[in-house]
Amino acid sequence: MRLGAIEAGGTKMCCAICDENGNILERMTCPTLKPEETLPVMRAWFEDKNIDCLGIACFGPIDLHKDSETYGYVTTTPKPYWGNTDFVGAFRSLGVPIGFDTDVNGSVTGEATFGIAKGIKNVVYLTIGTGVGAGILCEGNLVHGMLHPEGGHILLTKRADDPMEGSNCPFHPNCFEGLCAGPAIQKRWGKPGKELGDREDVWDLQAWYIAQALVDYTMILSPEMIILGGGVSHQTQVLPMIRKYYAEFMNGYLKTKELEDLDNYIVVQSLDDNQGILGAAIIGLKELQAQG
Ligand code: ZN
Repeated sequence: MRLGAIEAGGTKMCCAICDENGNILERMTCPTLKPEETLPVMRAWFEDKNIDCLGIACFGPIDLHKDSETYGYVTTTPKPYWGNTDFVGAFRSLGVPIGFDTDVNGSVTGEATFGIAKGIKNVVYLTIGTGVGAGILCEGNLVHGMLHPEGGHILLTKRADDPMEGSNCPFHPNCFEGLCAGPAIQKRWGKPGKELGDREDVWDLQAWYIAQALVDYTMILSPEMIILGGGVSHQTQVLPMIRKYYAEFMNGYLKTKELEDLDNYIVVQSLDDNQGILGAAIIGLKELQAQG
């Protein structure tokens, strides 16, 4: 089968044709400009690709309620130009079933189908990059609820020695994204994270915040694995620090085989940053199967 897939990000859009075995057959990437510029470019790319279905894993917030008038829309995003944009509608004329979900639900689907979480039914996938978001697989199902989880905006305790005033989130003075996303690192330290690789104080603070969030996810969702993606997954020196603080904050409260082996409980993405696009393809395939 030829599964069309879109991973829609705030800075770039990735379009691909995949098969159901996790192979990417063709790929095209374009920058995320205004919707009226970017959507037609992607639509045109799929035009002659003979796809059976299309899956879209999109930055949010988005409307996932099929009975809503704005189903398939990017809704209240602070990203310039993209608020109230009918994303799915731009591809309806392709005439194939279209699955639509969050970017992070795409990534958790990719990892649970083809990657390190294959066969695991309770997984949290956390991306920490330009933004912070969490895709959640619970008993084998993607969690949506009233909207979809916004795991990047959970509130954290701020560390007393954090040199940043407030946070970088316009809504919350102490949320995870506002304290840990790439722009927050830039604001706090004056440089992007990738130029701060050897600064232990930078990553110690980062790990302290990430570990708080992971403990909260564990307590609420009881995942069997937590996967980190985004830019932070390439700063591998931070992983042992995250696990150290995680154990400290957990303080022995829960005893499970997973938590006794944090090296295999808190892990990084395993699909070379293709988890989102591969997961998007599967989200499209599931919509095709649902429509019979
Ligand atoms: Zn926030």
